[in-house]
Amino acid sequence: MTVGVVGAGMSGLALVRALEQHGEDVVAFEARTEPGGVVQSREVDGRVVELGPQRLRLTPGLESMIDDYDLRESLRYGADDQPIYVYHDGDLKVAPLSVREAITTDLISPLGKLRMLLEPLFGPPKPDETVDEFLVRKFGKQAARRYAGPLYSGLYGTDPRDMLMAYSLGRVLEKRGVERSILLKVLESVRSDRETPPIVSFDDGIGELVDALSEAHADSIHLGTPVEAIRPVDGRDGPNRDGDCGAGDGGGDTARYELETAEETVRVDDVVVTTPAPIAAELLEPVDADLAATLERFTYNPIGLVFLDSDFGGRGLGTLVPPDADDVSISGLTWNASILDRDRLYTAYLDPLSYPPLLEATDGELGQVAAREFERITGAPAEPIHVHRWEPGMPAYDRSWTAMDDLEPPAGIHFCASYVGRPGIPGRIRNATALADRLAGGADG
Ligand SMILES: Cc1cc2nc3c(=O)[nH]c(=O)nc-3n(C[C@H](O)[C@H](O)[C@H](O)COP(=O)(O)OP(=O)(O)OC[C@H]3O[C@@H](n4cnc5c(N)ncnc54)[C@H](O)[C@@H]3O)c2cc1C
Repeated sequence: MTVGVVGAGMSGLALVRALEQHGEDVVAFEARTEPGGVVQSREVDGRVVELGPQRLRLTPGLESMIDDYDLRESLRYGADDQPIYVYHDGDLKVAPLSVREAITTDLISPLGKLRMLLEPLFGPPKPDETVDEFLVRKFGKQAARRYAGPLYSGLYGTDPRDMLMAYSLGRVLEKRGVERSILLKVLESVRSDRETPPIVSFDDGIGELVDALSEAHADSIHLGTPVEAIRPVDGRDGPNRDGDCGAGDGGGDTARYELETAEETVRVDDVVVTTPAPIAAELLEPVDADLAATLERFTYNPIGLVFLDSDFGGRGLGTLVPPDADDVSISGLTWNASILDRDRLYTAYLDPLSYPPLLEATDGELGQVAAREFERITGAPAEPIHVHRWEPGMPAYDRSWTAMDDLEPPAGIHFCASYVGRPGIPGRIRNATALADRLAGGADG
């Protein structure tokens, strides 16, 4: 069996690795000349700047890669034991994420804190409930709107009022085994001393990991080679959703699909698409127009990152700016200097909710806005050193993501992406490993 993989971001790289570990034939195509997708580490003014994820969690899946590729020496542990701040009423307040912080923070009033304690009395998500409705019902308005909602939705740039539980936070809670009470689950994990995996990165950034993966599997990965179309192999029947894996049809050649690139056309038995949904839609149009139409429904939110130099020196993981703070034009800050000891570096995020002209503004304008808001929030001046915009950007997990229910790829077409699994790097590695297991086991159409 040969598996063709479209894209060599974290999903594609983890998939190539897992399939090769199973002894499968795999060929991957990556449009860019560098691997990693949104994982891109750069050196700017002698500092490591991450254009995508700023840090990782040291999950078992990541740890096994670190050992296999000898990356222990450059592994950098982050300082986890620091607060996250919320910008509220013109001031920085601690987000209550531990029992101690919940008692001491002045983000929530004493009555608001009592209301939070009633959370176990309120049941699990209701059908069609939004993230905002669910969190307000469970924790009360103050906690839901001042930090719980924005903490979840902030990275995606979507208002919690536009996110349905069943297609967003509800899936996260289910994965974490939360049935009725979030608070009781947190207390249970504190009692059992179960720790969240530590924050990590590498001396030269997360790019070290994707470079190591790409080099280790260089024979199977074609960089700088965009796939232009995916087509069913001539003469084979159209889409088949009944799980017939197509092997053993008596013809000898079991290939079901062709991956077309500028240089060659490669025949494969199975295709795994790892690109964002709008690109997947274009590529899969010749295979199944209905599937392409479903993929086109998923919305993404563009996001801008401005990297700032400042001698602020505060101790914390970052700042959350709730969407209700409508006088502020950024949605949050990562304090890279404090988390990973990155010299004087801070990352500011802008999305269309916090800064509607995001896509039309020049880099210079974004830099100015971010530096101005940084100073307003922290009191310290800052200088922009780099700007980056992502488009299509972050999966929105808004109401358009009900399209997840209608994704019915024909036999031999698979997805390994945020529209079938969790978007974070640990989720991408888990998704890739599980799919490789299924493909190698021959149990997957
Ligand atoms: C700003 C930002 C911050 C984030 N922060 C965190 C974080 O702190 N922690 C965390 O765990 N996760 C974080 N994430 C999420 C995580 O980084 C991504 O979800 C994950 O890296 C996505 O990997 P992927 O391989 O699925 O997709 P992508 O990285 O999008 O990879 C898809 C690949 O497909 C390639 N491609 C596109 N078209 C074609 C084509 N026609 N032919 C061949 N190849 C093609 C692209 O070039 C790309 O390399 C963040 C993401 C962003 C953008």
